Amino acid sequence: MRAVVTGGAGFLGSHLCEYLLAKGWDVLALDNFVTGAEANLGHLRTNPHFEFLQQDITKPFDVKGQVDAVMHFASPASPPDYLKFPIETMLVGSIGTWHALELAKARKARYLLSSTSECYGDPEVSPQPESYWGHVNPIGPRGVYDEAKRYAEAMTMAYYRYYGLETRIVRIFNTYGPRMRLNDGRALPNFFYQALTGQPLTIYGSGKQTRSFCYVGDLIEGIYRLLESSEHEPTNIGNPQEITILEFAERIRKLIGTAAPLEFKPLPEDDPKQRCPDISKARRILHWEPKVNLEEGLQITLDYFRGQMPRS
Ligand code: NAD
Ligand code: UDP
Repeated sequence: MRAVVTGGAGFLGSHLCEYLLAKGWDVLALDNFVTGAEANLGHLRTNPHFEFLQQDITKPFDVKGQVDAVMHFASPASPPDYLKFPIETMLVGSIGTWHALELAKARKARYLLSSTSECYGDPEVSPQPESYWGHVNPIGPRGVYDEAKRYAEAMTMAYYRYYGLETRIVRIFNTYGPRMRLNDGRALPNFFYQALTGQPLTIYGSGKQTRSFCYVGDLIEGIYRLLESSEHEPTNIGNPQEITILEFAERIRKLIGTAAPLEFKPLPEDDPKQRCPDISKARRILHWEPKVNLEEGLQITLDYFRGQMPRS
């Protein structure tokens, strides 16, 4: 079996490539490095079952050889990244998604879209089940990401209905672990970097907003089970352990053993007030649930980040 992974040099894409190789797949990763890094794949480059092609997937491209699965992970994902690359984000979610779907259709391959909890926007229902249609501001700054992913879901469902393509849609909730960029601007790398360098931890708004953080190893296992299932409707994968951002910062301070203060900054526009996955569906159809708790996951991530810190 051979998979094409778009966004393969990113945080999640690189873990997915590694996981597929370990399961005996051949893997071709595509990436243009807009937010990813060659170093994320460095350890795979000598593996004879792994290939890499530097490619912007919003431009037409061809893939040689057998393709059994197309796993579409290309897209900036951190809010500061998609605010910096708004047009690229919309194009990879629209044209990039279309190209990935066309590749899967041409090769009669299975197709999996990495969608997001951002499809629920600033949700008025919590936890969020897949049946919730969401509360998204299409013209706010986050709209470029949210609407691109909602479009990508609609396009994927159209290929399922119109062409009978075998499609899967995973709605990923906040995920963390090794290979996140220390400077990607998300809460977790920011807090780690700040705590490790003794700078104030920046809390946006009151810090009472919630998120639910899933360890990357758990997420990839859930995604693989979804790929292997026959479920074509969106499926949430995430960790339902909900925590306020203030409490999250506190956990990281404790773990690192720093007395670095907190610094309150304005809440970004349309920042969701709560986010927690309802994973009953994943439990029922995939027999999946997260195994790594926050303490363990944060420790593994800290060990990784320590190795990434610039030497003084
Ligand atoms: P990331 O930024 O680390 O990885 C995305 C990768 O896509 C990068 O390597 C980037 O260079 C590549 N890319 C972007 N545009 C491209 C293009 N036009 N052509 C080729 N490559 C392109 O982000 P991530 O956290 O690994 O996210 C991966 C996917 O998972 C994204 O689609 C994201 O929307 C989704 N997701 C992630 C999370 C999370 O918590 N990490 C949550 C929800 C959804
Ligand atoms: N956040 C914060 N301080 C930071 C970075 C983020 O308080 O330095 C907040 C952000 O406003 C949001 C939450 O932490 O409420 C999670 O942000 P992140 O960028 O990690 O991802 P999101 O879930 O918003 O996509």
